[in-house]
Amino acid sequence: MFHEPQLVPSTKTKSRVLVVDDEPRLLTSLQSLLQLHGYVVDIAEGGKAACRKVTEKNYELILLDLRMPECDGHQVMNFLAENGIDSAVIVISGETSFTAVSQALRRGAYDYLKKPFSNEELISTAKRVLEKKQLERDHAHMHRRLKESSILHQYIVDSSPDIVFMLDKQGCFTFLNDKVVNLLGYSKEELKGKHFSSVLSSKDLLSLTEAIEDLERGTTVRNVEVKIKQRVESHTKRFFELTIFPIFASALSPTKSSSVSHAYPTRGLSAASQNAKPDDIIGIYGTARDITERKEAQDFINFQAYHDLLTGLPNRALFKDRLNMAIARCRRHHNRLAVLFLDLDRFKVVNDTLGHAMGDRLLQSVAERLQKCLREGDTLSRFGGDEFVLLLPEVTTPDDVRGVARKILRLIKAPFHLDQHEVFVGVSIGIAVFPDAGSSIDQLIQAADVAMYHVKKRAKEGYQFFSDTMVVNASNRLEIERDLRKALANNELHVYYQPKVDALNGEIIGVEALVRWQHPEHGMIYPSQFIPLAEETRLIVNISEWVLGKACEEVKKWIEAGYRHVQLAVNFVQAQIEHPQFVDLIRSTLAHYQFPPENLEVELTENMIMQDLEPLVAKLQALAKEGVTIAIDDFGTGYSSLSWLKKLPIHTLKVDKSFIQDIRDNDEACIVNAIVSMAHGLKLNIVAEGVETEHQLDYLRKLGCQEVQGFYFSEARPAEEAMEMLSAYKQNSVGLDRTH
Ligand code: C2E
Ligand code: MG
Ligand code: MG
Repeated sequence: MFHEPQLVPSTKTKSRVLVVDDEPRLLTSLQSLLQLHGYVVDIAEGGKAACRKVTEKNYELILLDLRMPECDGHQVMNFLAENGIDSAVIVISGETSFTAVSQALRRGAYDYLKKPFSNEELISTAKRVLEKKQLERDHAHMHRRLKESSILHQYIVDSSPDIVFMLDKQGCFTFLNDKVVNLLGYSKEELKGKHFSSVLSSKDLLSLTEAIEDLERGTTVRNVEVKIKQRVESHTKRFFELTIFPIFASALSPTKSSSVSHAYPTRGLSAASQNAKPDDIIGIYGTARDITERKEAQDFINFQAYHDLLTGLPNRALFKDRLNMAIARCRRHHNRLAVLFLDLDRFKVVNDTLGHAMGDRLLQSVAERLQKCLREGDTLSRFGGDEFVLLLPEVTTPDDVRGVARKILRLIKAPFHLDQHEVFVGVSIGIAVFPDAGSSIDQLIQAADVAMYHVKKRAKEGYQFFSDTMVVNASNRLEIERDLRKALANNELHVYYQPKVDALNGEIIGVEALVRWQHPEHGMIYPSQFIPLAEETRLIVNISEWVLGKACEEVKKWIEAGYRHVQLAVNFVQAQIEHPQFVDLIRSTLAHYQFPPENLEVELTENMIMQDLEPLVAKLQALAKEGVTIAIDDFGTGYSSLSWLKKLPIHTLKVDKSFIQDIRDNDEACIVNAIVSMAHGLKLNIVAEGVETEHQLDYLRKLGCQEVQGFYFSEARPAEEAMEMLSAYKQNSVGLDRTH
């Protein structure tokens, strides 16, 4: 589009001249004279012949007689003008009249010769006119080139993908290309004369100012990343990479500036350059490249690398990094910090029953709630699954940490609303304090994990600080899994029995079978520590079948020994009740041990009932028909609507121990009141689990709760001891006695 323009033929090539006269003699003599001086000469006899000739060839010079018959010199000049023929004309006139000459000059003649003229006069006039003409052409050509080059530069600058700008020494815009309109919405005029601070935030202002100072100290080019404000505030921030160069006074000195003066209107800078020394910086030239997309992509990659995408919380890698820094700070200032390992209780049930999408939403809600417990500087991260780890980078006393742990427990305990479902989860928290529990990142995280498992092991829903004695029990999960596979064959599993007592007269009316694992190295392991693992590996089905069989076998002996009414409660898991042979298994086990069905109570948890109700109704009705009773365990902690209570053949509700423990403060105790009165209304038997104090017992008795179970009476005991308890009651059947 913008070709480099052709150079005008130089004056060295032979100029073509046309001599026009009505006198043939004069024509030939002028022709030979001019040819002698190196011109290429054509002749035209009369005006008409001249008009024809000029349309056939280009003449640089025309020697034109003014007075000719038919078509005179003035008419020829008109013809030239009308046809845009750009030849230099020297008029030759015999007339001395001033009007004729001046008319010819006004029409564009370059010069005139008055007849008679000398040869020298002719040659020197011709030479002068041709030189003048050449000068004019050169000038026009230069002008055209400048114009083209200016358009070219303007074009290049405006179609640059970057914003191009110039600042004067004060930092005000003197030039901006069109891009500023597209990218930021400003018009060029709006910004011209404004200081760059008007489009930058204070933080970016500082970095650009520093970069400019660097240029002033001699750096030749600087890059800075900044956010530039758009004309209309928008949510999306635009990031730019600025590349700035100094403009030296010498760059705009008259000799250099001429070639760029059109492309870069530098009036302000040129003025500044007038009194400046050549190496003075008189302004800044820069480009601003839009790197928003690159930046966003980078940020996303960074975010992904260091965050958990589901909850947006920092991941393990970022957590470790923060912990590392916090440890270093604590070392310097002799401070303490705490790592809290959080594992949700009952998350698996929600995930299994309501589906993974709901599970994910629950995790997001949990993350949101947990974030409310945080102070600035704390780091909450998700390690995966339902495990969260919290860093408190500055703690003074254990009470600080206790406060946070209690707050977390309280917040997580409140129901979560996922669509129409009301979901209850709990959280087990293990706490490791630096430097007591460990001095490295891994030690602290592991210690908090171990402490958390201790919470899970016994009661769930609580918190515990790490202590050295825990290390002994800190068997890792893989090891447990491996050992659990061998436990059954090696007779390491045992059934323990916890008595269920009549609240009014203290009579032991039944027992709950609770499995125990006597591990050869780790000692007694409680169900909460291996049942979730057993569920994952489906070992639970074998274990539970074994427990049912063993319990039937042992309790049958008591029945035979005269305790005919003693009731055996056995816990079942999801996988078992879902099994098509569930009813058959119970029937055949009962038959095998000749165990009376009415002495067996099957314990299910509320969450299991969330499943497909129809097949479950059929199974439970089949069992009820045999005489087996059905109990709902941990009642009140599930999240089901209670409509199923009417559809299923339920006999007993076992109020979860957490509600019993809340009896201490009267506010919460009303939940127990509500459950007990609801059970009465539905004519259901009620068992309060986890009774630990006399106060709780009194309270429950007054409420009309018939059956109680808990450490206040006894923990779960091996078969022989449980049997002894039974007989002890028989011998001492007055009042309520603790049996241990
Ligand atoms: P669960 O069926 O609700 O059993 C009651 C749990 O509460 C038992 O824990 C028992 O030791 C504990 N407990 C009883 N009284 C008190 C008390 O006064 N205070 C406190 N804090 N706790 C008390 P355990 O034996 O550790 O069992 C935990 C859970 O493991 C059981 O909860 C049950 O869901 C499950 N489980 C235990 N044995 C079996 C089994 O043989 N098969 C199946 N499928 N699950 C079992
Ligand atoms: Mg139970
Ligand atoms: Mg229970």
